[in-house]
Amino acid sequence: MLLIHCPHCREAREEEEYSYRGEAHIVRPLAPESLSDEEWGDYLFFRSNPKGIHHEMWYHAVGCRRYFNVTRDTLTYEILESYLIGQQPAVTGATS
Ligand SMILES: [Zn+2]
Repeated sequence: MLLIHCPHCREAREEEEYSYRGEAHIVRPLAPESLSDEEWGDYLFFRSNPKGIHHEMWYHAVGCRRYFNVTRDTLTYEILESYLIGQQPAVTGATS
């Protein structure tokens, strides 16, 4: 079981209180009508699946009901940090 620190509540709670909402830092195109079908498809459907450091968006569904980001190692499941939406992660780069 993972303990996840919510930066809004400022405490670590059990994983069951949260839901995973996908890869973090996905930016919606400013002018989607100018994209090709391939570029729009990439934005909608393609996400990274790294072996190692991954930045994820989580939702504190049973707590404050707010979103935040987590940096997690996909090899060990270790959560390395949590931070607010709009902030940049302190931990970056792949481990392998
Ligand atoms: Zn919270």
